[in-house]
Amino acid sequence: MHEKAEYDYDLLVIGGGSGGLAAAQRAAEYGASVAVIEKGKLGGTCVNVGCVPKKVMWLAADFRHRLHRAPDFGFSPANADLDWKTLVENREAYIQRLNGIYASNLERREIEVIEGEARCLDAHTVKVGDTELTAERLLIATGGRPSLPDIPGAELGITSDGFFELEACPQQVLVVGSGYIAVELAGVLSALGAKVTVMVRRDSVLRRFDPMLRERLMEAMNQDGIRVMTGCVPVALEKDDDGLCLATESGEKHGGYDAVLWAIGRQPNTDIGLDALGVELAERGHVTVDDYQQSSLENVFAIGDVAGRIELTPVAIAAGRRLADRLYGGMKDRKLDYDMIPTVVFSHPPVGTIGLTEDEALEKYPGDVKCYTSTFNPMEYALSKEKVKASMKLVCVGPEERIVGLHSIGAGSDELLQGFAVALKMGATKK
Ligand code: FAD
Ligand code: NDP
Repeated sequence: MHEKAEYDYDLLVIGGGSGGLAAAQRAAEYGASVAVIEKGKLGGTCVNVGCVPKKVMWLAADFRHRLHRAPDFGFSPANADLDWKTLVENREAYIQRLNGIYASNLERREIEVIEGEARCLDAHTVKVGDTELTAERLLIATGGRPSLPDIPGAELGITSDGFFELEACPQQVLVVGSGYIAVELAGVLSALGAKVTVMVRRDSVLRRFDPMLRERLMEAMNQDGIRVMTGCVPVALEKDDDGLCLATESGEKHGGYDAVLWAIGRQPNTDIGLDALGVELAERGHVTVDDYQQSSLENVFAIGDVAGRIELTPVAIAAGRRLADRLYGGMKDRKLDYDMIPTVVFSHPPVGTIGLTEDEALEKYPGDVKCYTSTFNPMEYALSKEKVKASMKLVCVGPEERIVGLHSIGAGSDELLQGFAVALKMGATKK
């Protein structure tokens, strides 16, 4: 058994992504001695192969949409040729600057960064290469990675990681999946020049979102020339003379693609020797944690995607900061409230949503739900023939019409959500 004084650190954080870095920095600010082990680049998924490069590509796609509409405002048609290489080089240079900022933030707080892959040996000991490190507490913040379907030829396709490695815009793309990544990357690829088909297993994209958002988004995707094929379950991917060809359960074959992008969810990175520790994992492989991010072992904690509650950057950061507040800042009850977390889907147009969908509200508050919906043409389309409508829905309950859900799709929905999220969290009513 180790004594506290024998440990190399108070806290060893495995994974230098959104959650791990937030927890490490907050803990160090309280005076804890902290080290972060990172096998890749600082910043993790969000900075290197997630939110940041995605948002850059989304902004590029948004420019293309605006250039398309510029003549309606009297501008001569602009030369909208895209130099993909410049876009990618500038994007990667920006990410490199962010990696450097993360490194200096850690240095400033005297947090040691250990480069390499961590493996847990026991509840206080982690091995990186040939070095064994000990800590009073371990924080697992190893995030996740894209899933591939378990079908022949799956490896011929790419995932979101591969999307960020593309050296040119593919011409014909099949995106398989129905969630955030499928609709976001389909929209980007389409705006930047690809002919895009999205293939979903059931009847729509964003199935867990409010029906109004799903319907309006499917309409907008259709308007943009993105084909959505429903009810298709992939069974094999092959390469033939025409390119990539996907076979589905119903016996159909869909071919002629030069890229197939799997966007079917992500799996947690838990292959780090957790079995040696005896840390309990949930059914889908995530680390089981209680409300305070504590695993089945008293001194081992997990946050962010590896804990699998809500896989979003601000959630990982907030959970990490609150954990450090509790463990090192004397705030003994501090924890993240996972209710009413706002989220944005960077589709074209964007979606902003918080709280219960209409169906969820009806189930939770039977007979007590009233919804208000409004659909309009945003003024930025006023001079254009082609309009992209915006819709908003308020889901209210009780005589006081407390808002339990707000769903918005249309230009600006991404930004407007933030203020509403604060109001809803504070219990706003429709009045
Ligand atoms: P990560 O950021 O994944 O960090 C985990 C780190 O652990 C990684 O750096 C990894 O290299 C390291 N690691 C793993 N195993 C080991 C090991 N054994 N030893 C050492 N290091 C290890 N969220 C949003 O909120 N908004 C968005 O717009 C958004 N867009 C996204 C777009 C895409 C394409 C993707 C894939 C994700 C997006 N997300 C977005 C989700 C967001 O990126 C994640 O929720 C967030 O990064 C989770 O943070 P984390 O700290 O849990 O894990
Ligand atoms: P999601 O969980 O959002 O969606 C994946 C969907 O793909 C599933 O819900 C399922 O939908 C479908 N699917 C699953 N397996 C298969 C299969 N074998 N064949 C066909 N379809 C399948 O995962 P993503 O990969 O899009 O994103 C992962 C997470 O990253 C998100 O949940 C989100 O938390 C985060 N993220 C956040 C973003 C943001 O904040 N803007 C952007 C990108 C990612 P169905 O059941 O309908 O078939």
